[in-house]
Amino acid sequence: MIEIANLRKYKQGNAIRLEADINSPYPVKTIYFEVAEEYGFLLSADTYDAFALVGLYLAMNHHTDLRIHGSISKKLYKNLTWYVQKIFCDFSDKLTPAKIFVEGYSLARPTGNIIGTGISCGVDSFSTIYDRFAKEDDPDYKINALFIFNCGSHGDFDNAYTQMVFRSRVERALIVADELDLPLVVVDSNLHQFRDEENKNTILYLSIYSCVLSMQSAILRYYISSSVEYTEIDFSDHDLAGFSDSYLVPLIQTERTELIIDGCQYRRVDKVKNISDWSIAQKYLNVCLTQKGADSTNCGQCPKCLRTLLTLEILGKLENFSKVFDIAAYKKEAMNYKVHSLLHVDENIFCKENVDLAKEMNFPMPLRKDCYVLDNNFLVVE
Ligand SMILES: [Zn+2]
Repeated sequence: MIEIANLRKYKQGNAIRLEADINSPYPVKTIYFEVAEEYGFLLSADTYDAFALVGLYLAMNHHTDLRIHGSISKKLYKNLTWYVQKIFCDFSDKLTPAKIFVEGYSLARPTGNIIGTGISCGVDSFSTIYDRFAKEDDPDYKINALFIFNCGSHGDFDNAYTQMVFRSRVERALIVADELDLPLVVVDSNLHQFRDEENKNTILYLSIYSCVLSMQSAILRYYISSSVEYTEIDFSDHDLAGFSDSYLVPLIQTERTELIIDGCQYRRVDKVKNISDWSIAQKYLNVCLTQKGADSTNCGQCPKCLRTLLTLEILGKLENFSKVFDIAAYKKEAMNYKVHSLLHVDENIFCKENVDLAKEMNFPMPLRKDCYVLDNNFLVVE
């Protein structure tokens, strides 16, 4: 039995922590969520909702049940019991159904009316912020706060380099939040300590939603930026996001807080197009896989830089992003990458979308049935 108990909220140095004890096969004995003191009012000690999702996953992964020594949202309880477990079981044969025992149902007392989203300064995140903040007028749906969760998605949590990357992301996000005149809330959690090597991504994925639920007293709506298009659900995907993003996320909510999946309405190239004229994106877009700590320049040659820059080149917007990308480095690789995209059009969604966009925009890609040298190999594209 996984057991969660003794929910409390307290001051720790300059931070406020929401914490509960957990009895599980893992050595760590508590789960916590922590924010700076000024944002302490966001954390909700009224219910165990923030602890239920990962608790359920751990119970299913270890073929046992979950007992929460307190109450959770009735809506969340029903959704976890009736629907989410089925999605988890469909996703992995290693997961088995679990019973959830709670002492009752309770609602978080309202303490705010936040409409939030995460900020990574990547394409998905900027597209959501552009649509739901810069272009949105309805105060019920317009973003009024930005969030960063430090729960393991920035690399190996215990590695000093990861913390340096995280700090540089926070610094960049703070500059953007300042320009947009929005508060930025940084949330730390130790949920990553419940990961195993084989389910690392799943725990990190569920941790983000748990962080949102930890602040449900104050958060009315929260946009989750998905990288997966609605038509792209892939039941063979080994990543829970690719497998179920668009239908799992709407089930993770309570009477107080609505999680909205945003971005599934776009292809990736359409998101790049969406933000290509936005000055904030032109100054701060950050997609690079090869960043070294505080250096925030996009290299122009890694797979994420290449696919993003090819989209921008097709759109005629390459030079708009010369402040944040090494465009000269891209131009050296561009021909090779265009040939690569044609060769992999059938099995790689990024290549397919760029090739489709080139056709739509009448952009001249290398001709098929021609010869190219790629990675020192002589190739005929057919
Ligand atoms: Zn790069």
